[in-house]
Amino acid sequence: MATFKTIYKCSRCGATSYQRVIERAQNGALLPTGQYRCTGCRNVFATIRAWWQPRPAPALQTNSRFG
Ligand SMILES: [Zn+2]
Repeated sequence: MATFKTIYKCSRCGATSYQRVIERAQNGALLPTGQYRCTGCRNVFATIRAWWQPRPAPALQTNSRFG
């Protein structure tokens, strides 16, 4: 399976490469699902950006009721 090297790093584990997620279709063909799997933590991401971009921090609320 092809591994793609990038200048980015996984926001979770720091790995610098990912793989396309491949699944077998009903006709037996192996097709990319359009998702990406980190080669380090093996998490699957919908986009490259989601892979390298840290999760947005929860909105800060001055009157949080959940604190
Ligand atoms: Zn990772």
